[in-house]
Amino acid sequence: MTVGLTPHSVEAAIRWAQMALGSAGIDGARAEARLLLRHATGLSAERQVAAPDRCLDDQQASSLTEAVKRRTRGEPMAQILGRREFWSLDFIVTPDTLDPRPDSETVIAAALARLDSRDRPYQILDLGTGTGCLLLALLSELPAATGVGVDIAPETVRIARLNAAQLGFADRARFIVGDWTAALSGQFDVVLCNPPYVRTVDIDGLSREVALYEPRRALDGGDDGLAAYRALIPGLRHRLSETGLTVLEVGAGQADAVSGLLEKAGFAELLRTADLGGIERCVSAIPDKNSD
Ligand code: GLN
Repeated sequence: MTVGLTPHSVEAAIRWAQMALGSAGIDGARAEARLLLRHATGLSAERQVAAPDRCLDDQQASSLTEAVKRRTRGEPMAQILGRREFWSLDFIVTPDTLDPRPDSETVIAAALARLDSRDRPYQILDLGTGTGCLLLALLSELPAATGVGVDIAPETVRIARLNAAQLGFADRARFIVGDWTAALSGQFDVVLCNPPYVRTVDIDGLSREVALYEPRRALDGGDDGLAAYRALIPGLRHRLSETGLTVLEVGAGQADAVSGLLEKAGFAELLRTADLGGIERCVSAIPDKNSD
């Protein structure tokens, strides 16, 4: 349902947007209506509440109408707003980047828990960096660290660079186009990765926000969901310093299989960390000194 928006007061606009979103089956329609109104008008939630009678101009009304229309078609909020918060940092999001998810904050927490000191000049590598969220969030906690983010898609790398610049990390983060570790030499102290891990057959069963609008290459883990781990884990050890740490995000139920791949590739001291939903969300490991 997308009739035009009239009359144009803030309160009427919120009610109209809430109704349109609600009848499209969207949960939390009122909260989303307020966010979309802020997007269309620049009015903060506080100002929306303080001035319900304020009038939208035509341009603001048509911008809200357009945003609501996109949302009712299933487009994710992050893509409409162009932003998403991760680790309390504000990331630019586009259709070329996987929307940063709260689950992935587990990777940051797990890395921080295993690093000895926050002040060392760690060199960090983030494979399949997307928005750059893992690398930039970790840099925000490690003031002397520097890092490289790799992504296969040039357009995605462009967004990651923009994120580094707008968050103030341009001097500590570099982003390059590459296929996992193939374009890299040298060794890193920390290697992070949130690879695509959804089984191909399961993608269409995900919410339409994900299945239709998120980059498939960031989701598709092949027949059993593990194809990316098989491609990247064998090359991982060579990119890690002897005292290095790797932290890999995994999908629900994949921790055993990914742990097995890591052990086979010469990693030890494997540790699993659960996300806030209690699902084992990442596996971390260090090089096994007894294997080469
Ligand atoms: N967590 C994402 C989802 O299921 C998948 C992201 C990924 O494959 N790395 O929506």
